[in-house]
Amino acid sequence: MTAPAGDLPGDPHPVAVLTVVSVADATPSVRRVVLSGSPDAVAAAGPTVNLLVPRVGDTAPRWPAVARDGRIVWPSGAHGVSLRSYTARRQDPAHGEVEIDFVLHGDGPAAAWAAAAAPGALLAVAGSGPLGDRPAGTLLLAGDETALPAISRILAAADPAARGLALVEVAGPREEQPLAAPEGVAVRWLHRGGTPPGGSTLLADAVAALDRPDGEDLFAWVAAESAAVRAVRADLRGRWGLSRAQHHAIGYWRRGRAMAPAG
Ligand SMILES: Cc1cc2nc3c(=O)[nH]c(=O)nc-3n(C[C@H](O)[C@H](O)[C@H](O)COP(=O)(O)OP(=O)(O)OC[C@H]3O[C@@H](n4cnc5c(N)ncnc54)[C@H](O)[C@@H]3O)c2cc1C
Repeated sequence: MTAPAGDLPGDPHPVAVLTVVSVADATPSVRRVVLSGSPDAVAAAGPTVNLLVPRVGDTAPRWPAVARDGRIVWPSGAHGVSLRSYTARRQDPAHGEVEIDFVLHGDGPAAAWAAAAAPGALLAVAGSGPLGDRPAGTLLLAGDETALPAISRILAAADPAARGLALVEVAGPREEQPLAAPEGVAVRWLHRGGTPPGGSTLLADAVAALDRPDGEDLFAWVAAESAAVRAVRADLRGRWGLSRAQHHAIGYWRRGRAMAPAG
């Protein structure tokens, strides 16, 4: 993204706006949205991406700008735009397309936007970041449906000779998605059934039942509801003795709390 001609070098620059081209249900509770934008905007929209989500039906959102240091400069007054973190499941700059899976959890500006998304709807990008993974001979991945796009990217990029396990918590069999994994990495789906999202201990229990793999060429990547991540992180640091460089464990959402106030 470049500053408009004539702006001072330190001036905030406009955000990259993406347009919805198609919407499909990947599973009953995951909406897959394909967005188009310039090759630069698509390349900069991930792997993790700070999305600016307008109110449902707002066809001319008052976007913020982004300062050189990455700070978001919000317009004064009500704007209805909310900042939320997501993962680009797929980025194809050559075709100007980025694909994002939204969990339709029923509450919150991003879930509401995705539920109503239709071709022509707008979304903007205000920065991106890495997934936090690291290559290793043995991988442990653990996450819920919000982490599935990241898990699918990590598995797709993993060394074909990697070994390990991916644990994915979803509501039930209809929420499972095809995952291309190295032959030596098993994918195990954990079904929480009627337990609400963020209310189960499935991920922590599954990790607690695992023996630590031998050796130090080991990396664990964990993302899910914050309390579940805390429990898994404590086990991996304690019982498995993983160093900071050997794991990345991040709460992707908090039960009962919005990620940030709606704009
Ligand atoms: C780096 C990163 C990458 C992420 N990638 C993805 C992704 O690719 N796809 C994706 O769907 N999510 C992803 N998330 C999680 C997503 O940012 C949160 O779920 C976020 O809260 C959704 O915003 P919202 O506006 O819909 O709800 P908010 O306004 O943030 O929350 C409103 C209410 O909904 C509840 N809530 C939020 N998320 C869920 C959920 N999943 N299930 C049940 N209740 C929930 C909250 O507890 C709160 O009570 C990611 C998070 C991070 C930090």
